[in-house]
Amino acid sequence: MAVETVVPEASANAAVKLGPPTNEKDAEKLMFIEEMTANTDAVQEKVLAEILTRNAETEYLRRYGLDGATDRATFKGKVPVVTYEDLQPEIQRIANGDRSAILSAHPISEFLTSSGTSAGERKLMPTIKEELDRRQLLYSLLMPVMNLYVPGLDKGKGLYFLFVKSETKTPGGLTARPVLTSYYKSEHFKSRPYDPYNVYTSPTAAILCADAFQSMYAQMLCGLLQRLDVLRVGAVFASGLLRAIRFLQLHWQDLSNDIAAGSLTAKVTDPSVRAAVAELLREPDPALARFVAAECSKGDWAGIITRIWPSTKYLDVIVTGAMAQYIPTLEYYSGGLPMACTMYASSECYFGLNLRPICEPSEVSYTIMPNMGYFEFLPHGDGHGQDKAQQLVDLADVEAGKEYELVITTYAGLNRYRVGDILRVTGFYNAAPQFRFVRRKNVLLSIESDKTDEAELQRAVESASALLRPYDATVVEYTSHAYTKSIPGHYVIYWELLAKGASGDADALEALSHVGVMEKCCLAMEEALNSVYRQSRMADGSIGPLEIRVVRGGTFEELMDYAISRGASINQYKVPRCVTFPPILELLDSRVVSTHFSPAPPTWSPHRRPGN
Ligand code: AMP
Repeated sequence: MAVETVVPEASANAAVKLGPPTNEKDAEKLMFIEEMTANTDAVQEKVLAEILTRNAETEYLRRYGLDGATDRATFKGKVPVVTYEDLQPEIQRIANGDRSAILSAHPISEFLTSSGTSAGERKLMPTIKEELDRRQLLYSLLMPVMNLYVPGLDKGKGLYFLFVKSETKTPGGLTARPVLTSYYKSEHFKSRPYDPYNVYTSPTAAILCADAFQSMYAQMLCGLLQRLDVLRVGAVFASGLLRAIRFLQLHWQDLSNDIAAGSLTAKVTDPSVRAAVAELLREPDPALARFVAAECSKGDWAGIITRIWPSTKYLDVIVTGAMAQYIPTLEYYSGGLPMACTMYASSECYFGLNLRPICEPSEVSYTIMPNMGYFEFLPHGDGHGQDKAQQLVDLADVEAGKEYELVITTYAGLNRYRVGDILRVTGFYNAAPQFRFVRRKNVLLSIESDKTDEAELQRAVESASALLRPYDATVVEYTSHAYTKSIPGHYVIYWELLAKGASGDADALEALSHVGVMEKCCLAMEEALNSVYRQSRMADGSIGPLEIRVVRGGTFEELMDYAISRGASINQYKVPRCVTFPPILELLDSRVVSTHFSPAPPTWSPHRRPGN
């Protein structure tokens, strides 16, 4: 491990409470967690000093006159709290090829493309080589914790659906790709030593195949071939696992034919994937083929996960935050298996892990590991008008029950950077606070990793409604809903229209339905949404076509009446731009006069749009 593990001397007597460990290696990892959490504040102090020492000569820290100081008080007094937009000039210079020490003394090795966007494009997060070690360190803590709750995980395998996505180069030649793509393509992952607790059914070649269909097909086939070995089934996010089940629903016949024939479909062309699958698909297995076909042709998909993979003990997927919407569907497909949310991480920095991974999704708390970066917390909701930098609280000083926005300082050169996540302190493990993920700020709609905010939705509605002008119609009100009852989910936008022409609303609106303009509006909205949305639609197919549901005149007034009847103030009432409350959805759906879907995916290219 190349990264120094910061253990202050005073910590040597940390006692292991997480336990008893299953084996010696686990004991070492659990001890590490004990030490880090017992000494949260001292570790944080050391991490900050280490970051400030190494980055003392960077343009950024010099600008704020840190003069080599490495203490918290000077840092907090001089360095501002920033957002991505504040750092954009520096990021742009690095992207354009400036290799001087702008943010980090260590060379920026690549950019990680966040699913968070700025001006419609993925944010570019600078990273340095050694961050891979830090990520790997956090990953290495997950199984030792899980082993405390689920015994025998070394007796079988994990069926994990893991994928790489496309990557691109910045004008200056740095690679830009998602953090998981970077990790899976690294030697840390590709050349990982054998670990009986971390054996996957998916061959590495299948995970690394950039073609989403071939990758998924091979991973599913290998999962079926080794079905009796599978002890846990997972994906990074719940939406990914549901896509895998959808894939099985669509392709089980081909998969079962391959198993019956003992040979892989010609649709998988990648030679390394074919070679890897051939290792497992050596001869026909008619009994397994019949089994797969029988289970999948029943038309009943309840409990399909445990029917096909009967030894599965838990699902390993994140179902916190925006993913909570998928919990009922996952329960349906898994017959109520526990869902383990093991870690909390981002492109900017990996934060921490869940020390009680087998708990109810609503109870999940993450313990931020103080060695991963320097963490500060901006009290959420109060202190308007005060200087932000004055209000920040250190990791060890947050208060149980309070909500905060996470602010990070990383080894890679982000200083006091607002991540945009709102967290609530639920308690402490040793001296380390534990956090419930409350929500990401400013996210209105999300199906998978896409995050659409209110302003983006507004712009998309404006851009689409321009198409109604020739028909003398306007959108008088709108709201939205992330529809996830079918997989993939899709955005539903409710529009109330007003026709200005003489012929009367109903006739004019009826006419609109027939000229195909509403479908064009759906596509125009999609074209106006951010690049993560468009990539999910166009390249990944992980979001379905956007739907506009036209509601009859007066519906939004009824919505207001309903809100007022439930106690909303008439003066303060604002149309909700996203609705999830079932009675409101029912009201809207009962007033729908026509529905329209986007006829084609929007444009997207891995390369940024000109000007960004
Ligand atoms: P990205 O930068 O695309 O890697 O996305 C990182 C963001 O995903 C985080 O800042 C969170 O908003 C969200 N996220 C990551 N892990 C979790 C988790 N365990 N639960 C809820 N949200 C998460």
